[in-house]
Amino acid sequence: MENWNKAAMLKLLWAITFKTDKLWVKWIAAYCLRRHDVSTVGITNNMSWHLKKILKLRELRVQLNWEDLLLNGKFSIKKAYKLIQGEMQKVQWRRIICNNRASPKSKFIVWLAVQNRLPTTDRISRWNVECQLQCRLCDTQNESIQHLFFECSFSTEVWNGLLQKMGFNRTAGSFDVESRIVCLKAHSKSLKSRVYVMMFSEAVHTIWCQRNSVIFENTSCSPAVLINRVIFQVACNCNETERRLLVQ
Ligand SMILES: [Zn+2]
Repeated sequence: MENWNKAAMLKLLWAITFKTDKLWVKWIAAYCLRRHDVSTVGITNNMSWHLKKILKLRELRVQLNWEDLLLNGKFSIKKAYKLIQGEMQKVQWRRIICNNRASPKSKFIVWLAVQNRLPTTDRISRWNVECQLQCRLCDTQNESIQHLFFECSFSTEVWNGLLQKMGFNRTAGSFDVESRIVCLKAHSKSLKSRVYVMMFSEAVHTIWCQRNSVIFENTSCSPAVLINRVIFQVACNCNETERRLLVQ
């Protein structure tokens, strides 16, 4: 976000430097820069906060070449961002987050889950916090990401039910297997894949919320209720064509 902001501000610096025919650039040149060269003008106290921030980017700009930031003669924020950011390793699960129209709250929970960052009791106990290790959804095994998604008999029933609703003749696999499948689906543009990715995210989120409700509010509900809740959540974020797929 910080680097994207810098890239967007660089565009303003580029405009102040080269787009001298623009009225707002003429205004800045006349009243703020007092006809001084933008690359050498000193930053003074009577300049606005915004202009000071833009001018401070000249330090960054020295490391970059204007020519490398242009696309068809126009400043490209994307190119600037990539140059500032540098080469970063792409994570496998990126499309589950970026290519997914599920609710933001469900994508956030999936984002934590794929990195094993949800505060499941196996992790909490490692922080020397006393807690009940047993999964409160099935009360048979210890809670972990792998157990919750989808070794647990309760959550398996939810995901199996949703798979069936989507027309898949298979049962829930481990979290790693399911994550791999949803990664592949997130690469596809087909209607069914789009719905599948949303369904997975809402299922993970709904199961996590249910787990919290049992622990903190002592309220439980059946897998059938959760299945309907997930479908409702997905339907809320679907367009008309996708929604037709849900009621089939
Ligand atoms: Zn369980």
